[in-house]
Amino acid sequence: MGGTFNPIHYGHLVTAQEALYQFGLDRVIFMPAGQPPHKQDKEILPPEERYLMTVIATASNPNFVVSRFEVDRKAPSYTVDTIKALKKEHGPETNLYFITGADAVWEILTWKDAEELSKLCTFIAATRPGYSLEKFKKLHVLPDDQPLPRGKPRVYVMEIPALAISSTDIRRRVREGHPISYLVPEGVANYIHKCRFWIDY
Ligand code: NAP
Repeated sequence: MGGTFNPIHYGHLVTAQEALYQFGLDRVIFMPAGQPPHKQDKEILPPEERYLMTVIATASNPNFVVSRFEVDRKAPSYTVDTIKALKKEHGPETNLYFITGADAVWEILTWKDAEELSKLCTFIAATRPGYSLEKFKKLHVLPDDQPLPRGKPRVYVMEIPALAISSTDIRRRVREGHPISYLVPEGVANYIHKCRFWIDY
């Protein structure tokens, strides 16, 4: 499960749990993006802080693990490099699903080595209810039994009501002094307040 996780919130956790359940996954590997290749935003906390909050948020779930792979990379985090490394680590027989937000997924055809990436994993795009799926038409959201056109990614769309929560809104709430309880796990909220993230940044 890839994301900037700036910060991780209950929408992400519900998405991971629902993917685990709906797709019968063995586990979900949270992969905080190290240096997002497409963003130069000063609001994005250092990778180590986003990694730490992800560990705090997932600590109690035995099916959730957090990887340092992208956080430790000096080079920009391209998904194709991450998926290749995971394939190597877990073996060619392992089926990999790349879970992330729909707004990121519908651009995958523009990502680095998109065709190769499409062969290495299946995509799960998480959306909030009411999200228009118009943009996904070019991505071939197909049932399992239909063969994919050459080089096209297989994308499943999963509607997650909890994705009404967003990292952008949480950062705004923190800046403006509004509560974030029940939007993020308690440990994450405590860590955000302790470090004064988005107030002193
Ligand atoms: P983003 O543009 O910050 O997020 C797009 C939308 O998706 C936001 O609404 C975001 O909500 C939501 N979202 C992000 N991660 C999610 C998750 N794990 N579960 C549910 N919703 C999620 O996207 P991003 O975080 O930068 O990138 C997402 C992933 O795609 C990362 O792993 C990134 O490395 C990868 N990516 C790769 C390339 C490439 O290889 N060239 C290019 C772009 C993205 P929140 O803000 O609330 O999270």
